[in-house]
Order: sequence, then C-alpha cells, then structure tokens
Amino acid sequence: MTSPVPAFWSPRIAALEPYVPGEQPRIANLVKLNTNENPYPPSPVAVEAIRRAAENGLELYPDSTSLALREAVARRHGLEPAQVFAGNGSDEVLAHAFFAFFQQTQPLLMPDVSYSFYKVYAQLYGIACELQPVDDGLRIDVDALAERARKGCAGIVVANPNAPTGIGQPLSRIVQLLEACPQRVVLVDEAYIDFGGESALSLIDKHPNLLVVQTLSKARSLAGLRVGFACGQTNLIDALVRVKDSFNSYPIDRLASAGAVAALDDEDWFRGTRDKIVDTREGLCLQLEDLGFEVLPSQANFVFARHPLRDAAELAACLRGRAVLVRHFNQHRIAQYLRISIGTREQCSTLVQCLQDILAPTP
Ligand code: PMP
Repeated sequence: MTSPVPAFWSPRIAALEPYVPGEQPRIANLVKLNTNENPYPPSPVAVEAIRRAAENGLELYPDSTSLALREAVARRHGLEPAQVFAGNGSDEVLAHAFFAFFQQTQPLLMPDVSYSFYKVYAQLYGIACELQPVDDGLRIDVDALAERARKGCAGIVVANPNAPTGIGQPLSRIVQLLEACPQRVVLVDEAYIDFGGESALSLIDKHPNLLVVQTLSKARSLAGLRVGFACGQTNLIDALVRVKDSFNSYPIDRLASAGAVAALDDEDWFRGTRDKIVDTREGLCLQLEDLGFEVLPSQANFVFARHPLRDAAELAACLRGRAVLVRHFNQHRIAQYLRISIGTREQCSTLVQCLQDILAPTP
C-alpha cells in the first residue's frame, strides 16, 4: 500500500527518493572514513585568505560571475576563464548540467553502479535513465555503453574514477564515449581524478560535447567550503550560466572564492597531501588483502572491498561500535562491499586493528 501524499506536496516531490548523505556524527575520537573527505586540513594559505575575506567586504554581494575563481581554475588547467563554470560544490554543478543538457526525449545513459546522486537529479528533473550494467569486476562496460549510445540517447554520465568502486578509465575509453555520442553531452565527473586518474580536460578543445566536472572537496581538502566547477567549450558553459542565473546568481560566496583561489594556487600543499593519501591507500590495500578482503583497484581516495566470509553490513556495524565509520550501501550488486575513505596513516592503522579484532576467530 502506498502512503498518502502529505498536504501541499507536488506529486513529483512525493515520488522523489532523495540522496542520503553519509553520516556526520559528533562522536569523540571518531575515525571518520565514510564520506571521502580529505583527512588533512586545507592549505594554510587558503585558510588565511578566508580569514582576510571575512574581514573585508562581507556586507557586499560576491561577484556573480566568480571571475577570480574561474581564472584560477583556467590558470591551473591551461584553459580560458570562459571555458569554466563554478558552482556551490560539484553537486550543484552536476544538477545544473542535468537540467541544461539531459532533458531530452531519449534516455540518459549511465552505469548501474555509480554515484547515486545522478539518479536523484534525473528524478528531480523528470529525465528517464537507462542503466548499463557494470561487468562482474564492477568495471564500466564502455563498449556496451558506446554501442547503446550510438542508437540515440539524452547523453552519458560517468564518474572517472567511478564511485563507489574507485576504478579509473583510461582517456581512450572516454574518447570512445565522446565519439559514440557526438550530438549529446558526455559528462565526466572527475571528483576523484587527482588521486591517480587521467583527466579528460585535455580533450576539451577537440570535443564540443565534453563536460568535465571537478571539485575542491577532495584533493583540496575543502569539502566544508562547497566549491566545484565544470570545464567545457564556451557553448556548454553559457548554458550552465543560464541555469545558474535562473536559480541563484551567487553560488560562490566571498569566503569560498578567496579560499578556493588560494587553494588552487598552492600546488605544493596539494601535492604533499595528495601524495600522502595515495601512499596510505597502497599500504591499506595490502593490509586489507592480508585480512582476506578482495579490494578493487582504486585510483581514488577510497577503496571498495568485500570479505568473502563476512557480511558487509555486519562489519560496518561492528566498526561503528568501535567508533570507526565506513560507508555501506544497501544496494543491488554492491551490498557486500564496504567503501573505506583513506584517512591519515594513524586512522588507517586503527581501522586495520579493529578489523583484526572483529575478524579474529572466537575461541
Ligand atoms: N561526484 C562524486 C562522484 C562524488 O562522490 C561527490 C561527493 N559525494 C561529488 C560529486 C560531490 O562533491 P561536492 O559536491 O562536495 O563537490
């Protein structure tokens, strides 16, 4: 029996299945490995820039075009500012892109195992989706996706590296998708690209249908500031600006702009923290394998792993009892996996010690 629609709700809102963010509990000495945050703080230069911005001009609206931020992104990636769109976290950028490009008569294509927000945006905007099954190793079946795209679609969305698997695709596979779907946008969500993937930004000049979305939440340690961006040819960027200016003209506030520009310019801090995370990830993969886990090859700041003998939900609950949070998705095909964000070396050794306890045979 379906429950009645609450008073005043539109049918579409009543039918929505909203995204469920990972928990942000306040527990003392918590080892928080559930939302793919960076365990290291942001660049001290960025924090200082935010402090200065807070003391100067908050009574004024920010620049609605976020020019300083777009210039910083362009500087870093060898693009023109006109090829960059900035938004309040890459989630907002993704939502605007779905609205701008994928409301077509044909379905939007995406892998069946991917970032779960994509399906929510599609529902929100009434976009039909067709899910392409990933293979038995949870890899995106790019050949099948490209073949299906050739028959007509609203566009394609893939995360590279994919979430929650962490598996990356080489650029040749992204080109394959772009060429299969020249009349529609191929959105490549590169939230985790800095941890080992191959970015598609270099393809922008050649492919008018490519939109690359990145975030400062992960490798730049600024999840709390909410800054994301999209890069593509100006025609695509102009469409996103139209959506933004029909929704909220000021998605990037003055503090966010100052912090993001400084973080993007602090290459040394970025490299130092990123390299520590990649190094910790490689060590953690080996330790998890020693404990009997099967670990998917990760190019992200998290690993996706399952234990052949132990139920994933039960493992997550046991870890939670020891104040270690990891993410478990009770979803088709991935319900026996845990997604574990890469923390500091100390946090990861606490995780491994807890797993050793939990998995030890009871006497
Ligand atoms: N894309 C993917 C694949 C993600 O995992 C996330 C983080 N949950 C995002 C986009 C959104 O990140 P943010 O809004 O913090 O930029």
